[in-house]
Amino acid sequence: MTARRFVLCLLTGLLFALPSAAGSHDTQVPGWFRYAVGDFTVTALQDGEINLPPSSFQGIPADQIQALSARAFSYSDKGVPTSVNAYLVDTGAHRILVDAGNAECYGWKLGALAANLKASGYAPNDIDIIVLTHMHGDHVCGLVENGKKLFPKASVWADAKEAAYWLDDKNKATPAGARAAVALYGKDFHTFKPGDVIAAGMTIVPAPGHTPGHTAFRFESKGAVLLVFGDIVHNSFVQFAHPDVSVMSDTDRVQAIATRQALFAKVAAENTPVAGAHVPFPGIGRLRKDGNGYVFVPVEFTPRP
Ligand SMILES: [Zn+2]
Repeated sequence: MTARRFVLCLLTGLLFALPSAAGSHDTQVPGWFRYAVGDFTVTALQDGEINLPPSSFQGIPADQIQALSARAFSYSDKGVPTSVNAYLVDTGAHRILVDAGNAECYGWKLGALAANLKASGYAPNDIDIIVLTHMHGDHVCGLVENGKKLFPKASVWADAKEAAYWLDDKNKATPAGARAAVALYGKDFHTFKPGDVIAAGMTIVPAPGHTPGHTAFRFESKGAVLLVFGDIVHNSFVQFAHPDVSVMSDTDRVQAIATRQALFAKVAAENTPVAGAHVPFPGIGRLRKDGNGYVFVPVEFTPRP
Protein backbone atom coordinates (compact mmCIF):
# COMPACT_ATOMS: atom_id res chain seq x y z
CA MET A 1 0.00 0.00 0.00
CA THR A 2 1.37 3.38 -0.95
CA ALA A 3 1.61 6.07 1.71
CA ARG A 4 -1.06 8.07 -0.14
CA ARG A 5 -3.54 5.14 -0.15
CA PHE A 6 -2.80 4.45 3.51
CA VAL A 7 -3.67 8.03 4.48
CA LEU A 8 -6.85 7.86 2.34
CA CYS A 9 -7.95 4.62 4.06
CA LEU A 10 -7.27 6.14 7.48
CA LEU A 11 -9.32 9.26 6.67
CA THR A 12 -12.23 7.21 5.30
CA GLY A 13 -12.19 5.05 8.42
CA LEU A 14 -12.18 8.13 10.65
CA LEU A 15 -15.08 9.62 8.74
CA PHE A 16 -17.28 6.58 9.48
CA ALA A 17 -16.11 6.34 13.09
CA LEU A 18 -16.91 9.99 13.95
CA PRO A 19 -20.44 10.81 15.16
CA SER A 20 -22.48 13.07 12.92
CA ALA A 21 -21.84 16.77 13.55
CA ALA A 22 -25.60 17.19 14.20
CA GLY A 23 -25.42 14.73 17.13
CA SER A 24 -27.32 11.55 17.86
CA HIS A 25 -30.53 10.95 15.93
CA ASP A 26 -32.18 8.70 18.50
CA THR A 27 -33.34 11.36 20.97
CA GLN A 28 -36.45 13.57 21.03
CA VAL A 29 -36.49 17.38 21.30
CA PRO A 30 -36.74 18.61 24.92
CA GLY A 31 -40.24 18.37 26.40
CA TRP A 32 -41.28 22.00 26.69
CA PHE A 33 -43.80 24.09 24.76
CA ARG A 34 -44.51 27.81 24.96
CA TYR A 35 -48.01 29.27 24.93
CA ALA A 36 -49.25 32.83 25.55
CA VAL A 37 -52.19 33.84 27.75
CA GLY A 38 -52.41 37.64 27.37
CA ASP A 39 -49.25 38.97 28.98
CA PHE A 40 -48.59 35.66 30.74
CA THR A 41 -46.15 33.16 29.27
CA VAL A 42 -47.07 29.54 29.84
CA THR A 43 -44.47 26.81 29.44
CA ALA A 44 -45.74 23.24 29.29
CA LEU A 45 -43.17 20.86 30.78
CA GLN A 46 -43.17 17.11 30.30
CA ASP A 47 -42.02 14.94 33.20
CA GLY A 48 -42.32 11.68 31.22
CA GLU A 49 -44.84 9.07 30.22
CA ILE A 50 -46.44 6.14 32.04
CA ASN A 51 -48.55 3.23 30.82
CA LEU A 52 -51.83 2.84 32.70
CA PRO A 53 -53.33 -0.67 32.57
CA PRO A 54 -56.74 -0.64 30.81
CA SER A 55 -58.14 -2.23 33.99
CA SER A 56 -57.56 1.11 35.81
CA PHE A 57 -60.65 2.49 34.07
CA GLN A 58 -64.13 1.92 35.48
CA GLY A 59 -67.54 2.18 33.90
CA ILE A 60 -66.46 0.81 30.52
CA PRO A 61 -65.70 -2.76 29.39
CA ALA A 62 -61.99 -3.52 28.71
CA ASP A 63 -62.72 -4.42 25.07
CA GLN A 64 -64.28 -1.00 24.51
CA ILE A 65 -61.08 0.62 25.84
CA GLN A 66 -59.17 -1.48 23.30
CA ALA A 67 -61.55 -0.32 20.56
CA LEU A 68 -61.27 3.37 21.54
CA SER A 69 -57.46 3.08 21.71
CA ALA A 70 -57.37 1.41 18.29
CA ARG A 71 -59.46 4.27 16.86
CA ALA A 72 -56.60 6.55 17.95
CA PHE A 73 -54.06 4.09 16.45
CA SER A 74 -52.85 3.28 19.94
CA TYR A 75 -52.96 -0.22 21.41
CA SER A 76 -53.52 -0.72 25.07
CA ASP A 77 -52.06 -4.24 25.55
CA LYS A 78 -48.97 -2.74 27.24
CA GLY A 79 -51.09 -0.15 29.01
CA VAL A 80 -52.49 3.15 27.85
CA PRO A 81 -49.71 5.69 27.21
CA THR A 82 -50.28 8.63 29.55
CA SER A 83 -48.21 11.81 29.56
CA VAL A 84 -47.27 13.46 32.87
CA ASN A 85 -47.20 17.25 32.40
CA ALA A 86 -46.67 20.30 34.59
CA TYR A 87 -47.23 23.95 33.64
CA LEU A 88 -45.14 26.99 34.44
CA VAL A 89 -47.03 30.28 34.27
CA ASP A 90 -44.81 33.37 34.21
CA THR A 91 -47.06 36.30 35.13
CA GLY A 92 -44.24 38.82 35.18
CA ALA A 93 -44.68 39.24 38.95
CA HIS A 94 -44.47 35.50 39.72
CA ARG A 95 -43.29 32.27 38.20
CA ILE A 96 -45.98 29.79 39.18
CA LEU A 97 -45.46 26.08 38.65
CA VAL A 98 -48.64 23.97 38.58
CA ASP A 99 -47.59 20.50 39.82
CA ALA A 100 -44.06 19.16 40.08
CA GLY A 101 -44.07 15.80 38.30
CA ASN A 102 -43.48 12.28 39.52
CA ALA A 103 -39.67 11.96 39.85
CA GLU A 104 -39.38 8.29 40.89
CA CYS A 105 -42.60 7.75 42.86
CA TYR A 106 -44.60 4.52 42.38
CA GLY A 107 -41.46 2.87 40.95
CA TRP A 108 -41.89 4.80 37.70
CA LYS A 109 -38.72 6.49 36.47
CA LEU A 110 -39.92 9.83 35.15
CA GLY A 111 -38.42 13.06 36.49
CA ALA A 112 -37.55 14.84 33.22
CA LEU A 113 -39.24 18.00 34.53
CA ALA A 114 -36.06 19.63 35.90
CA ALA A 115 -34.10 19.02 32.68
CA ASN A 116 -36.99 20.27 30.52
CA LEU A 117 -37.41 23.35 32.74
CA LYS A 118 -33.73 24.22 32.22
CA ALA A 119 -33.97 23.50 28.48
CA SER A 120 -36.90 25.98 28.35
CA GLY A 121 -34.73 28.76 29.76
CA TYR A 122 -35.74 28.72 33.44
CA ALA A 123 -33.87 27.47 36.51
CA PRO A 124 -35.50 25.83 39.56
CA ASN A 125 -34.45 28.95 41.55
CA ASP A 126 -36.69 31.08 39.29
CA ILE A 127 -39.87 29.42 40.60
CA ASP A 128 -41.39 31.30 43.54
CA ILE A 129 -44.85 29.68 43.80
CA ILE A 130 -45.86 26.03 43.30
CA VAL A 131 -49.55 25.12 43.38
CA LEU A 132 -50.59 21.47 43.51
CA THR A 133 -53.71 20.20 41.74
CA HIS A 134 -53.61 17.36 44.31
CA MET A 135 -51.14 15.31 46.30
CA HIS A 136 -50.75 12.10 44.31
CA GLY A 137 -47.09 11.16 43.76
CA ASP A 138 -47.02 12.04 40.06
CA HIS A 139 -47.81 15.68 40.96
CA VAL A 140 -45.88 16.15 44.20
CA CYS A 141 -42.81 13.84 44.29
CA GLY A 142 -40.87 16.01 41.81
CA LEU A 143 -40.62 18.72 44.48
CA VAL A 144 -37.65 16.74 45.82
CA GLU A 145 -34.39 15.77 44.12
CA ASN A 146 -31.76 13.64 45.89
CA GLY A 147 -33.36 14.32 49.28
CA LYS A 148 -33.27 18.12 48.85
CA LYS A 149 -35.76 20.78 47.75
CA LEU A 150 -35.61 21.07 43.96
CA PHE A 151 -37.19 24.55 44.20
CA PRO A 152 -35.43 26.23 47.15
CA LYS A 153 -37.06 29.66 46.62
CA ALA A 154 -40.64 28.46 46.19
CA SER A 155 -43.63 28.36 48.51
CA VAL A 156 -45.76 25.24 47.94
CA TRP A 157 -49.56 25.35 48.12
CA ALA A 158 -52.25 22.66 48.30
CA ASP A 159 -55.96 22.75 49.13
CA ALA A 160 -56.59 22.52 52.90
CA LYS A 161 -58.90 19.46 52.54
CA GLU A 162 -56.35 17.78 50.28
CA ALA A 163 -53.51 18.33 52.76
CA ALA A 164 -55.63 17.17 55.71
CA TYR A 165 -56.55 13.95 53.87
CA TRP A 166 -53.06 12.96 52.69
CA LEU A 167 -51.03 14.25 55.62
CA ASP A 168 -53.17 12.32 58.14
CA ASP A 169 -50.75 9.82 59.74
CA LYS A 170 -53.49 7.19 59.54
CA ASN A 171 -53.74 7.40 55.73
CA LYS A 172 -51.58 4.48 54.60
CA ALA A 173 -52.17 5.29 50.91
CA THR A 174 -50.20 8.57 51.11
CA PRO A 175 -47.17 8.43 48.79
CA ALA A 176 -43.96 8.53 50.86
CA GLY A 177 -42.69 11.18 48.44
CA ALA A 178 -45.60 13.46 49.34
CA ARG A 179 -44.83 13.36 53.08
CA ALA A 180 -41.10 13.86 52.37
CA ALA A 181 -41.79 16.86 50.13
CA VAL A 182 -44.07 18.55 52.65
CA ALA A 183 -41.60 17.91 55.49
CA LEU A 184 -38.71 19.37 53.46
CA TYR A 185 -40.58 22.55 52.49
CA GLY A 186 -41.62 23.03 56.14
CA LYS A 187 -42.81 26.59 56.75
CA ASP A 188 -42.89 27.17 52.99
CA PHE A 189 -45.75 24.66 52.66
CA HIS A 190 -49.17 26.36 52.85
CA THR A 191 -52.78 25.41 52.36
CA PHE A 192 -55.50 27.35 50.55
CA LYS A 193 -59.31 27.43 50.52
CA PRO A 194 -61.62 28.21 47.58
CA GLY A 195 -61.74 32.00 47.16
CA ASP A 196 -58.22 32.60 48.49
CA VAL A 197 -55.94 34.70 46.27
CA ILE A 198 -52.36 33.39 46.05
CA ALA A 199 -51.26 35.49 43.07
CA ALA A 200 -52.92 38.11 40.85
CA GLY A 201 -54.31 36.57 37.67
CA MET A 202 -54.77 33.08 39.16
CA THR A 203 -58.12 31.80 40.49
CA ILE A 204 -58.60 28.63 42.52
CA VAL A 205 -61.24 26.38 40.91
CA PRO A 206 -62.36 23.49 43.14
CA ALA A 207 -62.54 20.22 41.13
CA PRO A 208 -63.13 17.54 43.80
CA GLY A 209 -63.69 13.82 43.32
CA HIS A 210 -60.40 12.43 42.05
CA THR A 211 -59.14 13.44 45.49
CA PRO A 212 -60.94 15.40 48.26
CA GLY A 213 -59.29 18.76 47.51
CA HIS A 214 -58.47 18.28 43.83
CA THR A 215 -58.19 21.77 42.30
CA ALA A 216 -57.86 23.42 38.88
CA PHE A 217 -56.27 26.84 38.38
CA ARG A 218 -57.64 29.51 36.07
CA PHE A 219 -55.16 32.01 34.67
CA GLU A 220 -56.38 35.22 33.08
CA SER A 221 -54.52 38.10 31.47
CA LYS A 222 -55.93 40.79 29.15
CA GLY A 223 -59.10 38.77 28.54
CA ALA A 224 -57.22 35.58 27.60
CA VAL A 225 -57.78 32.52 29.80
CA LEU A 226 -56.20 29.12 30.40
CA LEU A 227 -57.70 26.57 32.81
CA VAL A 228 -54.97 24.22 34.06
CA PHE A 229 -56.33 20.97 35.51
CA GLY A 230 -54.76 17.87 37.02
CA ASP A 231 -56.47 14.48 36.94
CA ILE A 232 -59.73 15.37 35.23
CA VAL A 233 -58.57 13.22 32.31
CA HIS A 234 -56.26 10.19 32.46
CA ASN A 235 -56.88 8.98 28.96
CA SER A 236 -57.68 11.32 26.10
CA PHE A 237 -59.00 8.52 23.84
CA VAL A 238 -61.54 7.45 26.41
CA GLN A 239 -62.60 10.20 28.79
CA PHE A 240 -63.24 13.12 26.41
CA ALA A 241 -65.72 10.99 24.47
CA HIS A 242 -66.94 9.24 27.65
CA PRO A 243 -66.71 11.66 30.60
CA ASP A 244 -68.60 9.10 32.72
CA VAL A 245 -65.58 6.76 32.73
CA SER A 246 -63.63 7.00 35.98
CA VAL A 247 -60.26 5.72 37.21
CA MET A 248 -59.55 3.40 40.10
CA SER A 249 -57.51 6.06 41.91
CA ASP A 250 -60.57 8.35 42.29
CA THR A 251 -61.38 8.73 46.00
CA ASP A 252 -65.01 9.60 45.13
CA ARG A 253 -65.94 8.18 41.74
CA VAL A 254 -69.42 9.74 41.55
CA GLN A 255 -68.13 13.21 42.46
CA ALA A 256 -65.18 12.85 40.03
CA ILE A 257 -67.59 12.12 37.14
CA ALA A 258 -69.87 15.03 38.11
CA THR A 259 -66.85 17.38 38.28
CA ARG A 260 -65.54 16.22 34.88
CA GLN A 261 -68.98 16.63 33.26
CA ALA A 262 -69.46 20.13 34.69
CA LEU A 263 -65.92 21.26 33.81
CA PHE A 264 -66.15 19.93 30.23
CA ALA A 265 -69.58 21.54 29.70
CA LYS A 266 -68.35 24.92 30.97
CA VAL A 267 -65.06 25.11 29.02
CA ALA A 268 -66.75 23.87 25.81
CA ALA A 269 -69.59 26.40 26.14
CA GLU A 270 -67.18 29.25 26.93
CA ASN A 271 -64.51 28.12 24.41
CA THR A 272 -61.91 28.25 27.19
CA PRO A 273 -58.48 26.74 26.41
CA VAL A 274 -57.44 24.06 28.89
CA ALA A 275 -54.19 22.37 29.87
CA GLY A 276 -54.23 18.90 31.45
CA ALA A 277 -51.61 17.03 33.46
CA HIS A 278 -52.33 13.74 31.62
CA VAL A 279 -53.46 14.99 28.22
CA PRO A 280 -50.96 14.14 25.41
CA PHE A 281 -48.11 16.67 25.57
CA PRO A 282 -48.25 19.66 25.54
CA GLY A 283 -51.79 18.93 26.72
CA ILE A 284 -53.19 22.33 25.70
CA GLY A 285 -56.29 22.70 23.56
CA ARG A 286 -60.03 23.27 23.43
CA LEU A 287 -63.08 21.04 23.81
CA ARG A 288 -65.89 20.74 21.30
CA LYS A 289 -69.20 19.10 22.21
CA ASP A 290 -69.72 15.95 20.15
CA GLY A 291 -72.83 13.83 20.80
CA ASN A 292 -72.89 12.82 24.46
CA GLY A 293 -69.19 13.55 24.84
CA TYR A 294 -66.46 15.91 23.68
CA VAL A 295 -63.60 16.09 21.21
CA PHE A 296 -60.29 17.54 22.35
CA VAL A 297 -58.74 19.84 19.72
CA PRO A 298 -55.05 20.37 20.52
CA VAL A 299 -53.19 23.63 19.90
CA GLU A 300 -50.92 23.66 16.90
CA PHE A 301 -47.20 24.19 17.05
CA THR A 302 -46.39 27.77 16.08
CA PRO A 303 -42.98 29.41 15.71
CA ARG A 304 -43.95 32.10 18.24
CA PRO A 305 -46.40 31.73 21.09
ZN1 LIG B 1 -51.94 12.17 38.10
